[in-house]
Amino acid sequence: MIGMEQAPHPALELQDVVRCYRQAGEALEVLRGADLTLWPGQSVALIAPSGAGKSTLLHLAGLLERPDAGEIWVGESQTAHLGDAQRTAMRRTEIGFVYQFHHLLGEFSALENVMMPQLIRGLSKRVATERARELLVYLGLGERLQHRPAELSGGEQQRVAIARAVANRPRLLLADEPTGNLDPKTADHVFGALTQLVRASGLAALVATHNMELARRMDRRVTLQDGKVVEVE
Ligand code: ADP
Repeated sequence: MIGMEQAPHPALELQDVVRCYRQAGEALEVLRGADLTLWPGQSVALIAPSGAGKSTLLHLAGLLERPDAGEIWVGESQTAHLGDAQRTAMRRTEIGFVYQFHHLLGEFSALENVMMPQLIRGLSKRVATERARELLVYLGLGERLQHRPAELSGGEQQRVAIARAVANRPRLLLADEPTGNLDPKTADHVFGALTQLVRASGLAALVATHNMELARRMDRRVTLQDGKVVEVE
């Protein structure tokens, strides 16, 4: 029901990606030839100390920043040469984001929050409602459809944010500390919902987290060392 076609391509591929920042006149090479491949249905934890470049990697993968060198594939598409409008369109349809804070719209219900990206994409209200309801029920929020974010617990808010992120059936889900703001038990529950959804839908997920216990439940763990992506046990 939440499925998408199984693509023969990786959902995401970073090839020899370089990203430099200027800080006080000095060049800071955050990524120096980073390679990473995520396959559909795979969940990958990104664990690295603060300042190692996790957000930079997520922003690049999410087409929010451009690499200084290298190529980023999202499904069958190379993205380095794309213009801003094409990158925005890809971001809307191919990529879902979950942040540490839910960023839900306070004046709208859970259902409406999940409908929103679909309506922006041009889907009908009927289709958007059906999909939003299906996702929220799947995530255990069938009794909370009409609640506004302020009427939901932290864990429920984050599950709505996850439903919103995947509403347009993206092939890639990027999450930056999605459970960083939750108590351990709630974090565990939200994380379980996220990984279950990833496996059931064929999505690929890259999740930055400091929580090793949660990271161990994902398919792979990677870290950043000297600007490169390295697999860890
Ligand atoms: P993490 O998410 O692992 O904490 P970041 O990707 O945020 O790491 O940052 C990696 C490094 O790049 C840090 O040293 C940070 O100060 C620097 N950095 C990040 N964004 C910018 C920017 N826009 N301009 C200058 N330096 C930046």
